[in-house]
Amino acid sequence: MVKVGVLGATGMVGQRFISLLAGHPDFEIAALAASGKSAGKRYEDATTWYLNDAMPEEVKDIEVIETDPAKMDKDVEIVFSSLPTEFAAKVEKAYAKDFVVASNASAMRMKKDIPLVIPEVNPQFLDMIDAQQKHNNWDGFIVTNPNCSTIAMTLTLKPIFDNFNINRLYVSTMQAISGAGYNGVPSMGILDNIIPYIGGEEEKMESETLYLLGSLDGDEVKPADFPVSASCHRVAVVDGHTEAVFLELDEDVDIEKVKKVMSEFKGLPQELGLYSAPEHPVIVREEDDRPQPRMDRNASGGMAATVGRLRKDAAMENSLKYVLVGHNTIRGAAGASILNAELINKQIL
Ligand code: NAP
Repeated sequence: MVKVGVLGATGMVGQRFISLLAGHPDFEIAALAASGKSAGKRYEDATTWYLNDAMPEEVKDIEVIETDPAKMDKDVEIVFSSLPTEFAAKVEKAYAKDFVVASNASAMRMKKDIPLVIPEVNPQFLDMIDAQQKHNNWDGFIVTNPNCSTIAMTLTLKPIFDNFNINRLYVSTMQAISGAGYNGVPSMGILDNIIPYIGGEEEKMESETLYLLGSLDGDEVKPADFPVSASCHRVAVVDGHTEAVFLELDEDVDIEKVKKVMSEFKGLPQELGLYSAPEHPVIVREEDDRPQPRMDRNASGGMAATVGRLRKDAAMENSLKYVLVGHNTIRGAAGASILNAELINKQIL
């Protein structure tokens, strides 16, 4: 078993990590870290547990430690990070001297030599790790996963990108409140309401999507080259981001062919049989009223993106539009880091 630690263990994503890691066949939770307000307490006493599944027994009595690499058990090999971005920027580098850091935070995404990876989409970007270790003189390294809305959308785009030419992409999101963290959105702000702004989210979707669909040239990423425009909105849903995607392609496409390439899409995690890999990363629904967050966010344990309403857009030539739902704290956060770590464990450690 590989011993793992979780940073930001008391938060929304941290709780998902714990829930997904409990009973994992290859990873064993050995350390939980959070802020000074939680350090020194039993995990059960330090945490306001928000998940429907009960807190796993095995973590209740673990003493939460400070977020300091010197306090981390030296037997730990992988550290999962769900720290607030500003703090992650300093701390993750310090952990990478000795540990593998699989991070959710945006602080280190797309920095030189630090791979941003969705294992089904761009696993070859892990080749940057050697250069990262050499340039920084680290024994460990950092691997990041994309923003929650980008992951779900890029999973659905990859089979389209591989089979057709995308000229332009518009996306409008309806994002769950858990995406902002436990204290992120006050109930008085979101109930009976929609908030039409999520700071930094549109920029992340626009840049990360092109990076993930890009190619690796030596240690440099050449991003895919088409315009992406995102409009991001917070809605009163607890978990599960919904996204309306509009594509202009360079030819008229047969919708049935698009459904086929999406449903048949598989990547390296499926080939390697990684524990958290969904059998089908993209699930295509035929009903007019699917996908819906409450009904589809948990598809394949929350690790698949569900797509529906695939159709053409009368206002645009050579168009394709659809709606997708992805679980923001599972496939969009903790599950994504764990799948990255499973790939690293299989291919690198
Ligand atoms: P959250 O619920 O607010 O949790 C934050 C965690 O970080 C808590 O464990 C907190 O510990 C800890 N923390 C806060 N300040 C700290 C400090 N100064 N030193 C050490 N630990 C500190 O946030 P979240 O939603 O889990 O998000 C965590 C990260 O994941 C963020 O970078 C976010 O952008 C990213 N992310 C979130 C989602 C999502 O859907 N929620 C998706 C993708 C990525 P205490 O309890 O002790 O304060």
